[in-house]
Amino acid sequence: MKTINSFNFENKKALIRVDFNVPLNDNFEVTDDTRIQAAKPTVIKILEDGGSAVLMSHLGRPKGVQEEFSLKHIVDKVSEVIGVQVKFVSNCIGQEAEDAVNQLNPGEVLLLENLRFHTEETSGDKGFAEQLSKLGDIYVNDAFGTAHRAHASTTIVAQFFQENKCFGNLLGKEIESIDKVLKSGEKPITAILGGSKVSSKITIIENILDKVDHLIIGGGMTYTFVKAKGGKIGSSICEDDKQELALEILRKAKEKGVEVHLPVDVIGADAFDNNANTKAMSVDAIPEGWQGLDVGPETVKDFHRIVLSSKTILWNGPLGVFEMENFANGTISLGNSITEATENGAFSLVGGGDSVAAVKQFGFGDKVSYVSTGGGAMLESLEGKTLPGIAAIEN
Ligand code: AMP
Repeated sequence: MKTINSFNFENKKALIRVDFNVPLNDNFEVTDDTRIQAAKPTVIKILEDGGSAVLMSHLGRPKGVQEEFSLKHIVDKVSEVIGVQVKFVSNCIGQEAEDAVNQLNPGEVLLLENLRFHTEETSGDKGFAEQLSKLGDIYVNDAFGTAHRAHASTTIVAQFFQENKCFGNLLGKEIESIDKVLKSGEKPITAILGGSKVSSKITIIENILDKVDHLIIGGGMTYTFVKAKGGKIGSSICEDDKQELALEILRKAKEKGVEVHLPVDVIGADAFDNNANTKAMSVDAIPEGWQGLDVGPETVKDFHRIVLSSKTILWNGPLGVFEMENFANGTISLGNSITEATENGAFSLVGGGDSVAAVKQFGFGDKVSYVSTGGGAMLESLEGKTLPGIAAIEN
């Protein structure tokens, strides 16, 4: 894998695709700079080599040029994070941009205006990509969040750099972590899939059945499986039209020698409400009017045992309605189990939507091996798809 460490950037201009799609408040101030922080190591390495950095990103979904989506709003924040006064140019292509790049000295950083002010960015226009390619000697992709899109700046532009292209620090780490689970994971490998629906996770399940030893299913998905097997689930969330699919997954798993673990007990509630009456009950004997909103104490113990026996762990999706305090215990307990397994030497990767939110909310972020930042890109990787942004650098 070609990363920034494969190059010396001395006197080189690096054209870096970053993901600075950060949230802004009404005063156009950055309210969460995680994504800018994440790009910092890549920029610093290039500057320390004696090179300069041309940063390009999208922000939001503008329709043409819209002031509120201008990247000029984030110049101060990027300067503060990187520790260098960042220059800004109000177009990402054309003479103005080329002039600004030509004037850039080693150690300097230039931020280009929002790529999506041009519709050619998302349509993957080759001419637009060629114009972007004039703005650097080496192309660096460090935007995992958009690596699943064949946009001009994430994919098409790479073809104009032949050998001079590589992954940034962040994207490199994302690829390495996913490979550590899906390609070279040390056995036993356990995947924990939670979240609300079977339908949104089905492609992931199908892909990982070939790679894992244990598949733990939790969250709202549980009840489609339990009902399909003949259990009584009361008014728990269920996709009735996915019951056959659930049985098919269980059959396939058996064929492939994958052990599937469903919850044995749940925390039942008489309403979808943090203040509902609750009690622990068997997962397949939930009375009418009650619904399972978290895994129960026996299940927590079960999952703990499996996680601690694993050498590689993938976690996607909460085990219960963790947003409500009274139904967060299963998710927190799982986080604790994964933390302990990681301390014992297992590799643990958390990725995809709500599990990342849960991990952050409960402070597990630095206790697992890696937390993936790229929602959609992460999910598509887990589904076994080749991401165009990654293929463009590798080819
Ligand atoms: P997903 O986006 O598919 O990962 O689903 C995450 C959502 O699933 C979270 O907002 C959880 O509150 C929800 N969820 C987890 N367990 C349950 C459950 N037993 N019943 C209803 N929703 C659930």
